[in-house]
Formats: sequence, structure tokens, C-alpha cells
Amino acid sequence: MNAIEAVSLSKIYHRSKTQALSDITLTIGRGEIFTLLGRNGAGKTTFLRIAATQLMPTKGRISVLGHDVRDEPLEIRSKIAVVPQEGSTIGPLTPWDHIYLTLIARGLSRNEARQRAEKTIAQLELLEYRNQPADSLSGGLRQRVRVAMAVATDADFIFLDEPTLGLDAVSRRRIWGVLNEIQKEGRSILLTTHYIDEAEILSNNVAIIDRGRLVVSGSPAELLRNVKERVRVDIVGSSFSPEELKSYGRVVKLAERFRVLTDDRRGKELADEAVRRGSDVALARVSLEDLFVDLVGRVEE
Ligand code: ATP
Repeated sequence: MNAIEAVSLSKIYHRSKTQALSDITLTIGRGEIFTLLGRNGAGKTTFLRIAATQLMPTKGRISVLGHDVRDEPLEIRSKIAVVPQEGSTIGPLTPWDHIYLTLIARGLSRNEARQRAEKTIAQLELLEYRNQPADSLSGGLRQRVRVAMAVATDADFIFLDEPTLGLDAVSRRRIWGVLNEIQKEGRSILLTTHYIDEAEILSNNVAIIDRGRLVVSGSPAELLRNVKERVRVDIVGSSFSPEELKSYGRVVKLAERFRVLTDDRRGKELADEAVRRGSDVALARVSLEDLFVDLVGRVEE
């Protein structure tokens, strides 16, 4: 049994007449970390909220851990935990209260709730803040508390809508580590994020959605195997004319830097030439972000 099976899933918000999802068919395996990627308004949150039984689909069907969202929402709710995009913490309650009370509300014994809360507080580096009222914490710390409330649970499937939004680089990596540990326990994770490096590092599989439609899905490595330009060469400054750069491959301008997407041989030749000319240059393989930009919005060339 898969973690999620969606077939021809569509959602129209009737009041605004927005078609947020169109005919999405995708499968998320058990024990996977699966990430939805897409531009603002692409439909990621809508998909996640339907799977979390917070919204009804307009057409199609979707099951979560074997239960249909229309027929068995309560079964689903008992097995999932959700970090919503716009949740909030409660002013006077401390991080400890938020986590411990969430676990008690889910039916854990006091003993187990205490143990899990202790572990999560340590994992997310909230020890020094554990007894401070939430409204005295910074935005990033409150976000960590919201993530902690979900990851501390024993839910089989955890949904996180932009969990690392507004977090510093060290905290983001912490959260990646925690999600990884959850996965090792055999639990499944559905994520949305705008940090494509995060998706590439963490996910077994990703889906790119654009204006409600599924553009592509698969593992990051599979998706990148199908890209014909294997490497990118970033050159800062203007030691090459645009025409010269174009002779090596496809050129994308990123602020003061030119990025040339090309094959391995031409990439190496260009990097060597740039070094000879004393340019600041970096050669790397193409990333999921390059593919994403290509698929859902071209950067000016
Ligand atoms: P973001 O990355 O900006 O969070 P998203 O990919 O999560 O975007 P959604 O929030 O799912 O996108 O929105 C998809 C579309 O549905 C957008 O056009 C949005 O304006 C619209 N939409 C979302 N929620 C509602 C709502 N409650 N009522 C009406 N329209 C909505």
C-alpha cells in the first residue's frame, strides 16, 4: 500500500473560480520523503491540504495510507501530523507546553509524551528556550516549535508545508537531519519547499507542479539524467563576449554572472579558458534548480 495515491485529482475554488489543481495523478511510496515543488500559486498547499483532509477535492480521488479522503477522513487524521503553512504558536505557552500538550491531545501517555517532548526539544535545539513564552521567541524559533509539534508525534505520515521558511542555514540542516531520522523509522513525509537544494538533498522523489498541473515527477537523479546539458559553468565578470559564451552552450544571465549550461567536454573547455583569462569561474553539474527554472519559467537570456 502506498502512502498517497492520487488519480486525476482536481480542485476548483468556487468563490474565486480558481482551478488550483488539474488532473494530478501521482503516487508517493511508503517511507519516502516526497517534495512538491512549484512557483507561488502552483497548487502545492492545495494538494497538501486535500491529502490532510482539510479541503475536499472537486474531482478525482486521493487515498492516504489506504484510506480515501472522502470516505475515511478520520482514519487519515489519526495517522498523520501536519505543519501548516500559516499556523501560529500560542502567546503565553512555552515550546515545552506546545509539544507536550500536542502529544497528550493525540492520546499519548504522560510518560511517553514527556520522553518524546524531551527528545524533540533537544533535536531541534530548543533547550535554552524550552520555558520561554512563545510570544517572546523570534519568528524562526516559533517556526521550529511548530515543526517540533509535528515531528514529536508518532504519526505514520508527516506533512510539512514549507517547514524551513525563515530558518537560518544551521537550523535548516538540523531539520533535514530530524526528517531523515523520521524516515529511518519507516515513516513517510510530504514536504513543500521553495528551497530546491533542500528538495534535492532530502527527497527520494519530487513532483514539479505548474499552475495546477503536474509537469514532471521522479527522483532528483532521474530527473537530472534526462537533462541534456550536464554541467554549468558560472563566470563572474566580462572576460567573454556574449557570442563567445553562446558558442559553448546555453547562456543564462544571473545578476553579474553568466551561467553556461552545456555538456561535460565543452564545460571543461570553457572553465579552462576562463581560468586562463583570469576570470572567477565555477564548474558544477546542473542542479534541480536549473531544471526547475527551465521547466516553469525561463530566466532572461
Ligand atoms: P505558495 O508557494 O505561494 O504557497 P502554492 O503552490 O502553495 O503557493 P496554493 O496555495 O495551493 O499554491 O494556491 C493555488 C491557487 O489557488 C492560487 O491561484 C491561489 O490563489 C488559489 N487559492 C489558494 N487558496 C485559496 C482559497 N482559499 N480560496 C481561493 N483561491 C485559493
